[in-house]
Amino acid sequence: MARYDILIRGGEVVDGTGSPRRRADVAIRAGRVVAVGLDLAGEATRILDARGKIVAPGFIDVHTHSDAALALDGDAQCAIRQGITTNVAGNCGVSLFPIGPDGPELNFLANATVREHLRPDWTTAAGYLDHLEQEGVSINAGVLTGHGSLRRAVGAQGRGCTAAQLAQMKSLLAESLEDGSLGLSTGLTYAPGCYAEPEEVVALAQVTAQYGGIYATHMRSYDAALVPAIEEALDVARQSGVTLQISHLTPGPSLYGSAPRLLKILEEARTQGVDVACDINVQPTGSTSLRSLCPLWALEGGNERLLERLRDPALRARMRQDILEKGSGTGGSMMQALMQSGEWDKLWLGTCKVNYAYRGKSFAEIARLRGEDPFDMVFNVLLEEEASATFFGVNKSEDDIEKMMGGSFVSLITDGMGWSQVGPLAKEIDHPRNYGAYPWAIRRYVRERRGTTLEEVIHHSTGVPAARFGLTDRGEIREGAWADIVIFDENEIADRGTVADPAQDPVGIAAVLVNGEIVVENGKHTGARPGQVLRRKGG
Ligand SMILES: [Zn+2]
Repeated sequence: MARYDILIRGGEVVDGTGSPRRRADVAIRAGRVVAVGLDLAGEATRILDARGKIVAPGFIDVHTHSDAALALDGDAQCAIRQGITTNVAGNCGVSLFPIGPDGPELNFLANATVREHLRPDWTTAAGYLDHLEQEGVSINAGVLTGHGSLRRAVGAQGRGCTAAQLAQMKSLLAESLEDGSLGLSTGLTYAPGCYAEPEEVVALAQVTAQYGGIYATHMRSYDAALVPAIEEALDVARQSGVTLQISHLTPGPSLYGSAPRLLKILEEARTQGVDVACDINVQPTGSTSLRSLCPLWALEGGNERLLERLRDPALRARMRQDILEKGSGTGGSMMQALMQSGEWDKLWLGTCKVNYAYRGKSFAEIARLRGEDPFDMVFNVLLEEEASATFFGVNKSEDDIEKMMGGSFVSLITDGMGWSQVGPLAKEIDHPRNYGAYPWAIRRYVRERRGTTLEEVIHHSTGVPAARFGLTDRGEIREGAWADIVIFDENEIADRGTVADPAQDPVGIAAVLVNGEIVVENGKHTGARPGQVLRRKGG
């Protein structure tokens, strides 16, 4: 008689490959799936009744900013409660290593909790990953090396870099890849990554390629200059031979409707031999650092310089003028376009400290409450928060998101920060996607819009990202795979967070297992931390 640790009985298995669901039991032993089939015989220490429910691989979120959150609290509450069992941090150019004399590059990771509690006792990727491993983590966690962090570590905070700085960045990057980083990320609209010439990025991508790492890029533009930005990224891949992942690729407001064109560009590049794929956010509202609403010239030299410029009335007037005239053409966030067009009701304040009472309120309302012109409100809030605040803004269309899901190489992501509903991180109430992006994708695109199937959404959230990031034995339910599993009711699963009240647990999820251990059951975190730290193979 077979003996199992856990036997999941009677569910509909959606296995992550895109194949149609089938009725099957799933048996788990020593962390892995050991049998999948109808009416499995055998004894199990624990039986989970999944009748009437979907049994799917846990979601694999390859684009997160959970670097600080996981270092502070390995419970990964926001992720695991929405069914995520693996995440990759270090995206958009920001990782918590390497750390040089100026301290870590925090950018959008900076908030009151992080500034108060994060005291890195590491400087390298090895140190960071060891920290996660020692503290324990509830989900599997991998990380990329941030280009902005490399730049900060070598003191390259402005335009270009010296040959010596580039050499130092290449060696720090190589060291991090040897330590197990999965690859390189850039944030080319964010300071200081935005000040890099393409040659600098190519040089770093070459190092990444030598180690077989992946290059994930938040490109220079997602709005008017999106297509040239994709061309730049493809050129980096052509020149370096690196595996390219274009991060959160949906067209911004001035290009709504162009998803088919973007897919075509990527498909053509793939036929020409470029190893390119992309991931997408699933909600029309995005989120990033408040300071990225400033023109790039205002961010040069770091936060202190930005604050000085914000105190200078002439420079402040110039910033306003630049945004009004050029929108996101000044670099920085594409959501500057919403300031340019005066759509202050499509922008909301996110994490902040001094202005906590305004969190989740629209810029239109905050300006009214503060009795300020909206531009001045943004600039004053930046000053009061010492440039450490985030915001939300509408920057995508659901039609485009749905069409992008049609690409065979497209992964769904949260782009989340990994904060928590409990413990010290609970103060940092952030964008709703942190709490329920995958439940949103199923509710919205499968149940409400009916534009795709559950099998497809699961495939793009599991099998596709696992294959892309070389996570063998994850992302599918099959014999031999790690037992990362989410069990949910397909008619009930839903996000509940809103912009005004984001920190709401999703509903409809019965259980979440990581490496064969139950981490969430009936909405409760069991305290288990069975996650593995995922190091690049050979790292
Ligand atoms: Zn990004």
